[in-house]
Amino acid sequence: MKSSVLVFLLALSFLTALPAWAQENSPAPSPFPTPSIAPGTDPATATRAWLDTVPADKRAKSDAYFEGGYWLILWNFLVEAAIALLLLGTGLSARIRDFAERTTRFKAMQVALYSILYIVLTSVLSFPLIVYERFFREHAYGLATQTFGPWFSELLLMLLISAFAQTILLIILYAVFRRAPQTWWLWGTGVVILFLAFGIMIAPVYIEPLFNKYKPLADQTISESILTMARANQIPVTQVFEVDASRQSNRVSANVAGFLGTTRIALNDNLLKQCTLPEIRAVMAHEMGHYILNHVTKFLVSYSLLILIALALSKWAFDAAVRRWGERWRVRGIADPAGFPLLALIFAALGFLLTPVSNTITRVSEIEADAFGMNTAREPDGFAKVALKLGTYRKLDPAPLEEFVFFDHPSGRARIRMAMDWKAAHMPTGQSE
Ligand SMILES: [Zn+2]
Repeated sequence: MKSSVLVFLLALSFLTALPAWAQENSPAPSPFPTPSIAPGTDPATATRAWLDTVPADKRAKSDAYFEGGYWLILWNFLVEAAIALLLLGTGLSARIRDFAERTTRFKAMQVALYSILYIVLTSVLSFPLIVYERFFREHAYGLATQTFGPWFSELLLMLLISAFAQTILLIILYAVFRRAPQTWWLWGTGVVILFLAFGIMIAPVYIEPLFNKYKPLADQTISESILTMARANQIPVTQVFEVDASRQSNRVSANVAGFLGTTRIALNDNLLKQCTLPEIRAVMAHEMGHYILNHVTKFLVSYSLLILIALALSKWAFDAAVRRWGERWRVRGIADPAGFPLLALIFAALGFLLTPVSNTITRVSEIEADAFGMNTAREPDGFAKVALKLGTYRKLDPAPLEEFVFFDHPSGRARIRMAMDWKAAHMPTGQSE
């Protein structure tokens, strides 16, 4: 353990000393030309014409970036599994538990102490993969805008917040494990879902402002155009906010978030800088779709079911593993925090295997929001153009099975086709062209 902390600190001092090379290679927004498509062209041909406006080298780069992500799903799982087996196999997990038990006699405090040490240890061990995936790789593809120092301090802040949240969650879960050693998976599902719902509610208001600044959108033409669509759909907002997302990346994004009095429409400055009004309208109407179609609630309902199944399977797998290796790992049972790496390993394995399921749950909502957005903004060409811009970091034209397994949003091709189908049906178009 000591040596990995040392390696970590060495890597850190080396990396922070690097010059600010990072910001130089962020690309200017790619000005895709609008293809000239004669009226009456069939949607399949029109879709092809849009896709053909992307130069081959750009296409190859975004394919490589996105396909690299498939391997990262595997690598992340393997690293998580290796760390869990290391903690169990070396008896380190049991030693941390022993230390927690010697330090305090309160069960909740023992869990808290275990959780904090576990988070520190696993964060250090997975740091090389994190820094590759979220820093070097993002810069190599020109998607990130931050130098190492600010990036790292944001990573630490994020880690601190998730350590706090995870520790509270574990204190509650282990209280459940102690009281219901046979039916914990049932009560545990309830705890996890309530926790998830609480997080979704407070994150936009209390956590996101820690990383980015939200200010009212200055451009009246854009904000009025967005608010008109909001009013037409009973979304209770009177102001549009702009987020300084360009601090971290040059990805285009927006959201409509909140509950009760905190509903907020926000778009990021990359969207403002890189897109025209029809494109902005297409994106914002899509985000309104998530809000109007209650996608957060539906997400929580589908995940309740998924988590229930996952925890039921976890109970079976956990008990079987403890029967077999419990003595060697010095794990006494579900209520013993020393068994947490085993639980984390089982969950990581299920999460890995269920990748197509969770992606499909999200992708279906995205398709619904696209349909809502298309009918609200009435900007098929703007929609097609944004789909191409999102293609900077998402493969534009995947095989059907590939899209089913790996895509949590529809592919660029699918989105453009939807826009061209809509256009071919001669629906009345939007206020601006
Ligand atoms: Zn969406």
